[in-house]
Amino acid sequence: MHSEFLMGNEAIALGALAAGVNLAAGYPGTPSTEILETIAKRGAADVHVEWSINEKAGLEVAAGAAYSGARALVTMKQVGLNVAADPLMSLEYIGVKGGMVIVVADDPGPISSQTEQDTRTFGMFSKVPVFDPSTVAEAYEMVQEAFAFSEKYHTPVFLRPTTRIDHAYEAIEVKDEAEYEQKEREGFVKDASKWVIFPKLSVRSHAAIEARNAELSKVFSDYPRNKILSGAGQQGSLRKGIASHGVSSMYTRDNLAQDNHLPVLHIATPFPFPEELAVKFLEGLDEVLCIEELDPVIERALLMVCGKYHLPTIIRGKLTGDIQTVGENTVESVGKAIDAFLGQSRPEEKAEAVPPLPVRPPVLCAGCPHRASFLAVKEAMRGQKTIYCGDIGCYTLGNAAPLDMCDTCLCMGAGINIAQGVYHMDPQTKCFAFVGDSTFFAAGITGTVNAFYNQADMTLVVLDNSTTAMTGHQPHPGTGKTIRGEVVEAVSIEKVLRAIGLSVVETVNPLDHAEAVATVKRVASEPGVKAIIFKSPCVVLAKPAARSKVEAEKCIGCQKCIRSLGCPALVLQEGKAFIDETLCTGCTLCESICPVGAIAGGEKL
Ligand code: SF4
Ligand code: SF4
Repeated sequence: MHSEFLMGNEAIALGALAAGVNLAAGYPGTPSTEILETIAKRGAADVHVEWSINEKAGLEVAAGAAYSGARALVTMKQVGLNVAADPLMSLEYIGVKGGMVIVVADDPGPISSQTEQDTRTFGMFSKVPVFDPSTVAEAYEMVQEAFAFSEKYHTPVFLRPTTRIDHAYEAIEVKDEAEYEQKEREGFVKDASKWVIFPKLSVRSHAAIEARNAELSKVFSDYPRNKILSGAGQQGSLRKGIASHGVSSMYTRDNLAQDNHLPVLHIATPFPFPEELAVKFLEGLDEVLCIEELDPVIERALLMVCGKYHLPTIIRGKLTGDIQTVGENTVESVGKAIDAFLGQSRPEEKAEAVPPLPVRPPVLCAGCPHRASFLAVKEAMRGQKTIYCGDIGCYTLGNAAPLDMCDTCLCMGAGINIAQGVYHMDPQTKCFAFVGDSTFFAAGITGTVNAFYNQADMTLVVLDNSTTAMTGHQPHPGTGKTIRGEVVEAVSIEKVLRAIGLSVVETVNPLDHAEAVATVKRVASEPGVKAIIFKSPCVVLAKPAARSKVEAEKCIGCQKCIRSLGCPALVLQEGKAFIDETLCTGCTLCESICPVGAIAGGEKL
């Protein structure tokens, strides 16, 4: 063993490696991304690690490995689980031979997601056991225990950290490589009665799952990470206690440092719920406050236990309005809730006055080629009835003023299908769907096939910046690189589109403004499904040396460059445009649109 200062996601990765993981797959998504990146960096060469094209593909690849007796890890963020839901629900019925841990990182807040969904609830829905770590160290240990449980009970299991565990740092004890588990693998053994899902098998499996989860509820009552942190519990005339989980449990303990007479039920496996342990905790208590994030999972479980065992304990939490129903908990919010629960007030701690942070609305980077793409489409379609369906990625930021080029955004790949729906109802509207290169592979191809097959009339715009930019520049099939940096044959988006059947597919550099506008006009006027690939690398990865400059004597102060682009490098100074050299990447877009040619000096990527 040795000590390392690790981020939660790195700890999960090292925990998986210590458990002898043979295959790791996933799709990038904050806050889960660093898990696979760490396995790629620190895993032995015989550990297969991949960025899959989406979460469904990753889960299916991992299932194949687990069918072969290997230990498999899948990683995703909470919305990614929706994509993987279809194979997951069936896989729970089929089961696994090798251990399979599905890490789903939840995002209370949400800090970087479109939903606040709770994977603990998904665990109950899918009947998949859930492990809910509360510290970085626990996440490291728990992923190893989760593999052992998965293998013993032949079921995939969830490990469900939240952002504050994924991105927290802690110095923890980790195993040396020589201590990693090494398992013999039997390989895939043909048995259609086991691996092929049929209704007869499903009925049998369903009964077995229910029995197993009832057993696991008992087993988890003795699992040492589920525990009652004892205290006298007496508060005035009432005996009170607190039930909590994950990082909220740590916030609770922080607040109870001086008042640790309260017993705390710490739940590490919210599903199957450790019922016997809960009964032990509830007996003799008059009131319990459930402190949790996202859904009232523990609160509902305790209410059920009280009903089932005729316990008179009053259960408080989100359902009674004692805990906020949305958003992240904090040490302060938990402290306030505990004070209210105990009917006490504590002296206000005078926080040092901190100046308010400047408001920084999300904006496309200076020189981002997506700005140029949006501008080209906007200019080409001026005066026509249009809808611009956006998608998940940097280009969602095209919704901000002054571009205003994102009319809809639902989930990965949805924009292409939404554009079709609008067209079928309103053929007069010129329908555009914007999708990034990584999203095209993740969820865009099927929508394009649907559009082509069902004879929509729409323009697909692929914003190809040759990376998965928003989550930290991961490679994808179009980049010709794997997660470990191996060079592989790149998949051509243009060839994929032509193979689907699209006859009009044009590729253009969006920073070539005049050409880009002409391309949009030409392509959009074609009938049926057609595509434009705007290809220019992400500026964060490829910064040009030359910057653009405003020649003050030529500038007439019309502000066209500032008002139409929204580039953060462009500001007004003494009535004239001025370019902040520290931000400008010299993309030349403002040079193309200045009516008097007052800007020069940049260099197109
Ligand atoms: S060249 Fe113009 S548009 Fe491009 S980054 Fe510089 S200021 Fe912004
Ligand atoms: S568009 Fe040209 S003339 Fe108008 S403010 Fe910008 S630099 Fe000056």
